[in-house]
Amino acid sequence: MASHQDELVFLPLGGLGEIGMNAALYGFGSEDDRQWILVDCGMGFGGEENLPGIDLVYPDLRFIEEERHNLLGIFITHAHEDHIGALVEMWPRLQAPVYATKFAIGLLETRRLSEPNAPKVDLNEIAPGQRLKLGPFDIEYVPVAHSIPESNALAIRTPHGLVVHTGDWKLDNTPYLGSLTSEETFRALGDEGVLALICDSTNVVREGTSPSESDVSRNLAQLIKDSPHRVAVTTFASNVARIRSVAEAARECGREVIVVGRAMDRVVEVAKECGYLEDLPEFRSAENFGYMPRDKVVAILTGSQGEPRAALARIAQDEHPDIALSAGDRVIFSSRAIPGNEKAVGSIINSLIEQGIEIITDRTELVHVSGHPRRGELAQMYQWTRPRIAIPAHGEPLHLSEHAKFARQQGVKEVIRAKNGSLVRLAPGPAEIVDNIPAGRLYKDGNIVIGAGERALPERRKLAFAGIVTVAIAIDDRGELVGDPVIDAMGLPDKNRQGRDLTDIIADTVADLLDGLPKAKRRDPEAVENAVHRAVRAAVNQEWGKKPACHVLVIEA
Ligand SMILES: [Zn+2]
Ligand SMILES: [Zn+2]
Repeated sequence: MASHQDELVFLPLGGLGEIGMNAALYGFGSEDDRQWILVDCGMGFGGEENLPGIDLVYPDLRFIEEERHNLLGIFITHAHEDHIGALVEMWPRLQAPVYATKFAIGLLETRRLSEPNAPKVDLNEIAPGQRLKLGPFDIEYVPVAHSIPESNALAIRTPHGLVVHTGDWKLDNTPYLGSLTSEETFRALGDEGVLALICDSTNVVREGTSPSESDVSRNLAQLIKDSPHRVAVTTFASNVARIRSVAEAARECGREVIVVGRAMDRVVEVAKECGYLEDLPEFRSAENFGYMPRDKVVAILTGSQGEPRAALARIAQDEHPDIALSAGDRVIFSSRAIPGNEKAVGSIINSLIEQGIEIITDRTELVHVSGHPRRGELAQMYQWTRPRIAIPAHGEPLHLSEHAKFARQQGVKEVIRAKNGSLVRLAPGPAEIVDNIPAGRLYKDGNIVIGAGERALPERRKLAFAGIVTVAIAIDDRGELVGDPVIDAMGLPDKNRQGRDLTDIIADTVADLLDGLPKAKRRDPEAVENAVHRAVRAAVNQEWGKKPACHVLVIEA
């Protein structure tokens, strides 16, 4: 029974306003005494932002870290990195039981075993379709079609009503492998009465409905069969249906399959354990590639997003220890570049083409289909579930605002355009944003997780833009220079426009300045530092038009 002040709230901490970093809280209770569940704990990729040295980005979960004694559980909808990628890193700060399906747990475990210091996470297996009661929440895993096995929406029942959190989904009645999104189940939820639908916005700007994974599979089979020489297919490592369809196509035309890339090996291992790759010939390992006849092999490769260390990029640079392609071979991109990765993917394509390798992408052939719903599919979901409240999720601001418009067109009365940190009261009363909670990003910097506000990143950007000058000066207690100042510059051009050495110019500037300083002032290291700092930056700016960082070290000799 809901008491008077009990409220049901939704609080996204990541994934609303960006593709990636999905992490959403649901809370129940009075304002100062709420219990929470966290849905997903995903990461983003640093590549698209101006973040030198940062590959991975995590949501800032400090709100729930402080409330962790009230966090009942973490529920993983599916095993894509934008839903589980931050879990291992962030879990020690939360320490709540994690619920996920067998496939997701398998991937988390294999990755943990490959990282020596990774913490042991409290993982609990839950089956698609299973229901679990936890405090005021009754959570049901509802299978949906997506581009990875065992994807689920969550039907979250509370004393204030039923919330459907779709996770990532699409409609596909012939998904080739894995679940389909059941009209019957979602209609039944609609009949039960859906208070709020929190729904995937990724493809809301695309009309119609997506083709089926089975259509992709048929077309891939044809392209593999028609290849005169070697074929390599690159796709998302986690797309087990795609791996399986390539493997079946290979068998049809008497080719053997070679799986290349660590991420792909891990997925194949877990997919086998879960029974998704049964009744297929054994895959061969990469060392065999060079010994096989050109028309008897298909390689499945990682690196479809242009990742520089992945198999495909290394093959394109002819730097892979086992795999080499040559003119007349065919590479199929069974994928689409995630926004931000287009340039990296483009440069790999160009380098393969220069080598006479034939490239096939989804621009000309049906070799990939997205795992997210287009407008036609979204319309169905709204008709089935008939929610009172809609909150667009999983998208950039454009996707979220288009989805909000779309939801209103579908007849939803209350549409809330929430952002990361928006505390949305779903019930009782009309839905509204009642507070804004600190949310943001954390960066994985080498082995350390740093906050977005730390100075390391702006400093690194400055260094990348204008370099650094270091000046070391020794001064004795009478204010006399001991030896000549030592000057070093990094990231600066060698010479100015007239051909004079920049370090010579800096040395002259420092010498002139020190000469001009009264002895009393030279005995004050801080005054010397400030004066040299200013003079060096001004002098370089005059020659170069840019001001480098400048470190002045005064040693009292
Ligand atoms: Zn996904
Ligand atoms: Zn996702």
